[in-house]
Amino acid sequence: MRVLHVASELYPLIKTGGLADVLGALPPALAGLGVDTRVLVPGYPPVTAAVRDGKAVWTDRFLFGGGEARLRLVKAKGVEVPVYVLDCPGHYDRPGNPYLDFDGKDWADNEQRFGALGWIAARLGQGLDPDWRPDIVHAHDWQAGLAPAYLALDGGPRPRTVLTIHNLAYQGLFPYAAVERLGLPAEAFRYDALEFYGQLGFLKAGLSFADRITTVSRTYAKEIQGEEQGCGLDALLRHRADDLVGIVNGVDYGVWDPAGDPHLPKPFSARDLKGKAAAKAALQKAIGLPDAPDAPVIGVVSRLNVHKGLDLMLAALPTLIRAGGQLVLLGSGDTDLEEGFQAMARTAPESVGVRIGYDEALSHLIQGGSDVIAVPSRSEPCGLTQLYALRYGALPLVRKAGGLADTVVDSTASAIDKGKATGFVFRAASAAALSRAIGRACDLYADKETWAGIQQTAMAQDFGWPAAARNYLALYRETLG
Ligand code: ADP
Repeated sequence: MRVLHVASELYPLIKTGGLADVLGALPPALAGLGVDTRVLVPGYPPVTAAVRDGKAVWTDRFLFGGGEARLRLVKAKGVEVPVYVLDCPGHYDRPGNPYLDFDGKDWADNEQRFGALGWIAARLGQGLDPDWRPDIVHAHDWQAGLAPAYLALDGGPRPRTVLTIHNLAYQGLFPYAAVERLGLPAEAFRYDALEFYGQLGFLKAGLSFADRITTVSRTYAKEIQGEEQGCGLDALLRHRADDLVGIVNGVDYGVWDPAGDPHLPKPFSARDLKGKAAAKAALQKAIGLPDAPDAPVIGVVSRLNVHKGLDLMLAALPTLIRAGGQLVLLGSGDTDLEEGFQAMARTAPESVGVRIGYDEALSHLIQGGSDVIAVPSRSEPCGLTQLYALRYGALPLVRKAGGLADTVVDSTASAIDKGKATGFVFRAASAAALSRAIGRACDLYADKETWAGIQQTAMAQDFGWPAAARNYLALYRETLG
């Protein structure tokens, strides 16, 4: 079976969030199950820098206004499976973020940039590379959402298609003019096809035309069929409920395991946690907090926005400070949140350490050195940081939403007794509920023995990719019939 994954991010080459981690890990896990797997990504600067020439599959002079374009099949550094790179400097050779310009606004030509990605994916699906024709085109998120639409609308023989929603809140909406510009048939601009409230919706297109739809946890698969989390697409998702499944993401333990993590001062594991104390001291030093081995340290590694519930974290901080705890936060995003946390760090420099920006190495040290990793998201399709936290013995403190609800077991008295507790779960999206959970975590932290027991259970959880990959393989088989 041949499967082509299409996405805008691919760890370790280009990453803004969990999408990259999934694309870095799922394809090799599928390859390990005998699936002939390849990935297609845009040629952003870090991507082209990581590849050698490879085989030219296709060239063009004018790809949706991007000028010279070519598709190359390459071996990329750090990526185990073969990669198709869509090289089109006019579209992708830009510094910084794949989606945003320097003012934090969407690049003005995103419709052409990601239209091109979906279009070339469809062509590959139709046999553009005579040596390798996929049985399945698996598109990820809105950036690849047009691939299933181009394939279905073309009407010819085609591979089966799967669309994975990593986050329904990002939909890729563009004015009607994009329909013609991207060579899509005007008659498909209908509410049951490409149109989303008067605009062209890339994700909507994928959801309308893909043979199967997946999302990244079972709870999120249910949540998005309701109005509250459906982002305007809930009716369509209810309509397609029989074709929609939730498969929880895995963790690449080759990258995220304290026993072999080069970013930690000393390796550690469930059997020998001495290295965790060393990581905590290194973290406090790195972020400028006092060396306090007994203070509960809560870590946050996140995009800073309201979906992630970081406004709740800001409001709940006084509880942590009063309990003698420390917050270490790494992230970037909404200006008011960035400024809010920075102001807190100025007001309480003994208790709050903040680094605004993106820093892969520090993100590992935070996992290693924290006692708790907080993920207070209002909405969370799967969430990866809480899964990493489990393995690093940092107990996740999460809101009961999406994948967080599916992967963390609250430390109630009965769950602790049964040896099932792995973290802290709170329900209401309010600062009060989060404060209570922080209070509970700080109280339990003082009970060293119980804490150590929960830590052992957390570190023993296995969210490896092989199990998730087997679920995708079963879905592919079913789809191929
Ligand atoms: P999302 O994809 O919604 O951002 P996930 O929890 O699924 O959330 O994945 C986030 C990924 O991005 C994790 O690997 C996390 O460590 C990483 N990450 C988020 N913010 C930063 C940051 N500022 N620096 C380094 N890594 C980050």
